[in-house]
Amino acid sequence: MEAFDRRDIETLYRHIGEAETITVTVHTHPDGDAIGSGTAMVSYLASVGKDAVLVFPDAYPSTLEFLVTGDMEKRIIVAENSKEAAEKRIRSSDMIICLDFNSFSRAGDLEECLADAQGEKILIDHHIGPDRECFSLCFSETETSSTAELLYSILMELPGICHDAGKLPPETATALMTGMTTDTNNFANSVFPSTLAMASALLDAGVDRDLILDRIFNGYNESRIRLMGYLLDRCLRITDDGVAYMILGRKTIMKFGIQEGDTEGFVNIPLSVRNVRMSIFLKQDKDRFRVSIRSKKGTSANLCAKEFFNGGGHELASGGKLMIPDDVRNITEAAAYIERVTHIFLNR
Ligand code: 5GP
Ligand code: MN
Repeated sequence: MEAFDRRDIETLYRHIGEAETITVTVHTHPDGDAIGSGTAMVSYLASVGKDAVLVFPDAYPSTLEFLVTGDMEKRIIVAENSKEAAEKRIRSSDMIICLDFNSFSRAGDLEECLADAQGEKILIDHHIGPDRECFSLCFSETETSSTAELLYSILMELPGICHDAGKLPPETATALMTGMTTDTNNFANSVFPSTLAMASALLDAGVDRDLILDRIFNGYNESRIRLMGYLLDRCLRITDDGVAYMILGRKTIMKFGIQEGDTEGFVNIPLSVRNVRMSIFLKQDKDRFRVSIRSKKGTSANLCAKEFFNGGGHELASGGKLMIPDDVRNITEAAAYIERVTHIFLNR
């Protein structure tokens, strides 16, 4: 990761000092990094006396509820359930900090409100291609494991923390470790020397990593593992081009009683097969299939997501969507679409 421009850190510190009301927000369907970096930022801001609130565009998975308890609980607004309160909060904030997304379009129904808001807008993110013109200050860095790691490096620079992880509020330290752990898939991907240095400093500062691992990896519903077996047995296809894909339709979601977050990590499993270069997972959701793409080095999940799945993300881990009925009408068409476009993508 590049060293920060001193002036950017000074500007951020000045903005925090001047702002009374600060709202932090993250992307739709928040994952561990979005929730981890979001709650870390809010707990830090609260510790320095700010009126800080975290607005989620929609629901967060139950395995990450442990980050949103205690004092944090009263600082959370879920826009899907309380749209008016969320928008009012964003509009009346002196400062808006956007974490773990690169464009307002990734904030779902909050897009317009964020674009129109008058407060100072700050981006802290690790995705490719940020919309820089929408923010007065951008911390955008792709050579880092996670937004949590990027935020950790920023917090370390601030007066009051001064490169001592022991000075972070304990909730902030736990949330940062959680975000980094989930985005690296427990140190399997995107691990840089700075990632391990951060993990080491946070452990030294007293973070209980065993507890975090237990919450995020051993806290799922039984239905998740039953669905996993069903999908791998019945639905996984591997094409001659080395593309593995699974499509989870509405009926199966209902049959297994699947909740938000229950399919986390499914897309990674087929990458364990030797000749698989890319894995695609589709999950049906109201008017669309949500798309997750993972690839092995040498194949760009990001380019494939951008060109064929209305999305993007990181080089080896991206996402997107296929709209129903404009892009595809049903599972059969979605399967045919995946086979056709990945054949084009991998043979040119
Ligand atoms: P996941 O597959 O875990 O949902 O997402 C993988 C990565 O792709 C994440 O970094 C996420 O932010 C990004 N991503 C997921 N969905 C979309 C999307 O619809 N558009 C864009 N641009 N990125 C996405
Ligand atoms: Mn992330």
